[in-house]
Amino acid sequence: MKTDTIAAISTAMTNSGIGIIRVSGEDAISIVHSVFVNKWNHRCLDSYKSHTIHYGYIVDGDNPVDEVMVSVMKAPHSYTTEDVVEINCHGGIYIVQKIMDIVMRAGARIAEPGEFTKRAFLNGRIDLSKAEAVMDMISSKNEFALQSSIRQLKGSLFELIKNMREEIIYEIAFIESALDDPEHISLEDYPEKLKEKTEVLCDSLKKLLDSAHDGKLLKEGIKTVIVGKPNVGKSSFLNILVGEDKAIVTEVAGTTRDILEETISFGGITLNMIDTAGIRNTDDIVEKIGVEKTKKALEEADLIIYIVDSSVPMDKNDDDIIQMIKERKVIVFLNKSDLNVCITEEDIRNYFSEEIKVIKTSMIKEVGIDSFTEIIKEMFLHGSISYNDEVYITNMRHKEAIKDAYESMLQVKKSIENYMPEDFYSIDLMSAYASLGMIIGEEVGEDLVNEIFSRFCMGK
Ligand code: GDP
Repeated sequence: MKTDTIAAISTAMTNSGIGIIRVSGEDAISIVHSVFVNKWNHRCLDSYKSHTIHYGYIVDGDNPVDEVMVSVMKAPHSYTTEDVVEINCHGGIYIVQKIMDIVMRAGARIAEPGEFTKRAFLNGRIDLSKAEAVMDMISSKNEFALQSSIRQLKGSLFELIKNMREEIIYEIAFIESALDDPEHISLEDYPEKLKEKTEVLCDSLKKLLDSAHDGKLLKEGIKTVIVGKPNVGKSSFLNILVGEDKAIVTEVAGTTRDILEETISFGGITLNMIDTAGIRNTDDIVEKIGVEKTKKALEEADLIIYIVDSSVPMDKNDDDIIQMIKERKVIVFLNKSDLNVCITEEDIRNYFSEEIKVIKTSMIKEVGIDSFTEIIKEMFLHGSISYNDEVYITNMRHKEAIKDAYESMLQVKKSIENYMPEDFYSIDLMSAYASLGMIIGEEVGEDLVNEIFSRFCMGK
């Protein structure tokens, strides 16, 4: 079947040095051939070899429109596996749109978002997890997220899932053959063997499932909430990290009324900092809303920074805050350490636990910030998140599929333990096989494929 030829502007729609228009499909070469001339004014694009790049002009009729470089990648060795031509033109919004328009008049259709990658998938060049990795790479906010999607793009998740599926299908085939031919294939002792294998698979699936939270942290950053009574130095801290006066610092208690969000990157980690109003009881309506928001933000946080003004004694407000965050991942700042200090690290440990991380800080003198960054790196890189070759699940759709597969495998284990007949095992093995297939795109319906690819950027 002949597919139509698609085109899109693949670079951002701002004025920039270069703009790229990508064309893919059976007519890609003839379409660009009809609108491109070389420096001697010859139309000869259709004679160019694959993987070559050429200087010339895009013409509208006979009028030159822009000076360009055109690259030709012939099927099947291209991004989509179809003939692909990329036009590198000047990057002004007007000129890029004008060339796009000329290409469309010559016979190309405008591509839907993600359609190039969708074609790469439908034509069998990449599996679905790789296609999604492309999307993740484009939206990576930090080095770790980028590395994780590159690994996925190289196929680490694909390999893992493929191996699991192979093991499962082997067992299904074995059970089915034994049931068909009981005289030659015995199922004696088989349940015990299958149970061992099932346990190994369950462990691997569970590990992947647990990585989903770390994967989320890698991808979206560590959601950090700064909490403390009014006037302890929360805004000052945020301002030091952000490097500008985003939060309003004043001496009247309770000025940070609403929630301020900032994304801060260091050492490859992204922190989503949310500065909040204190949690004091208040009658002021506006502040009350702020307090509610703080409570919600605290519930959703991956890390909490609790700032205490160490120059004044702790009070009921501190008790309230501590009650709310005691069981969470917390770093405590004993701020205003440049003043006369009346709260010690020991006091804080008594409220929390021996292991609680406490840092003496002074926002005015910018003391303690280095220790803070060191602690963060240690907590999230060498502690809960280890940055190595492990496969992380960063995608909700994958997580759901792995969860389903895990539950089916637990069911297999249960059936074995309850001495159920063998055909029960194969039903659940089959559904685990199908769930895992969803990840690499072997069991997905057309609707889902369309939905996934429509989340891509234009021109990818
Ligand atoms: P917030 O209400 O918790 O956001 O507190 P702010 O950051 O607005 O700070 C309140 C006041 O405390 C301001 O006048 C700051 O200059 C002052 N402040 C903040 N940190 C320190 C510190 O480490 N030492 C001293 N001496 N004053 C500080």
